[in-house]
Amino acid sequence: MNIILFGPPGAGKGTQAKHLINKINGFQISTGDMLRDEIQKNSIIGKKIINDMNDGKFVSDEIVNSLIKAVISNPQNRNKLIFDGYPRSISQAKNLDFLLNGSNQKIDFIFFLNVDKDTIVKRIEKRKIIENRSDDDVKTILRRYDTYMKTTKPVLDFYSKNPNFHEIDGALEIDEITNKIDAFLQV
Ligand code: AMP
Repeated sequence: MNIILFGPPGAGKGTQAKHLINKINGFQISTGDMLRDEIQKNSIIGKKIINDMNDGKFVSDEIVNSLIKAVISNPQNRNKLIFDGYPRSISQAKNLDFLLNGSNQKIDFIFFLNVDKDTIVKRIEKRKIIENRSDDDVKTILRRYDTYMKTTKPVLDFYSKNPNFHEIDGALEIDEITNKIDAFLQV
């Protein structure tokens, strides 16, 4: 089973992805984590993306697409993919289709965790203290939310026509969201 968790930064995608790892023995693909990892390693990619990440801007499709390619084509992750923060643009959505078709896979569920700006700001501020994430100051949060909504709206429109698309109120408690997801998955 392959699943996309969709929604603005701070909507709870990461938390639900962790739950799905246990529930369906899934493999989480968080492009945010992968990119932060590149920065931490001070790799060539890391050096290229650090400014955009800290400004709350999107990293180029080319870089993000290249990072996920190996993960999707790895047979160990086959039909266990849980996408958290990808795709975020039409170009990425098309690339995902292309990579999945190439390995004879498909997306089984798309969950859109919809949540308003105020709730997001409160949540990310809390996470900032816990995780000490450098790209998370309030101004950046708002920019990230706006960037997400602007660039990702077409992807949302694209996926919302899919019969496997389900919108869930992201302002609900974590357990309530988990229960709703489980009900759709029938696990
Ligand atoms: P996240 O941890 O998903 O909230 O992502 C943190 C930051 O990483 C975002 O604000 C972007 O700068 C970058 N990022 C993560 N995923 C993507 C993606 N799919 N495309 C472009 N940039 C991304």
